[in-house]
Amino acid sequence: MCIFCKIVNKEIPSNIILENEEFLAFHDINPKAPVHILVIPKIHVKSFNEISPQTMNNVTKFMQDIAKELKLDKSGYRIITNIGEDGGQEVKHLHFHLLGGAKLAWTHLSDADPKGMF
Ligand code: AMP
Ligand code: ZN
Repeated sequence: MCIFCKIVNKEIPSNIILENEEFLAFHDINPKAPVHILVIPKIHVKSFNEISPQTMNNVTKFMQDIAKELKLDKSGYRIITNIGEDGGQEVKHLHFHLLGGAKLAWTHLSDADPKGMF
């Protein structure tokens, strides 16, 4: 069982923000911003590649609710999902990073030559 499935099953402790039948939101153990929350589906979905449009539809409302509850909706925030090897996905259970609480950096992400790509 993957580490996030263990969090869903409460076999590993987590600091939960919000939960419903379908999703769980908890604090990232290694925060990269004043607010760094992970939002996951309770069922094991490997990455964004595998999420159904229906689940994506439902997670949208769930994340909007979190942003409102934490009063980030006015100040702004960022949602990131890393996918696979190039995306830098370390935990192979789909998760959305919800980051905020300060003005976030937006830095250069790769020095690879874009000319060779297309
Ligand atoms: P990613 O690189 O997109 O796969 O992100 C994985 C995230 O999971 C990282 O930000 C980790 O800090 C976080 N993480 C890993 N294990 C735990 C855990 N047990 N509780 C909370 N966050 C975790
Ligand atoms: Zn899992």
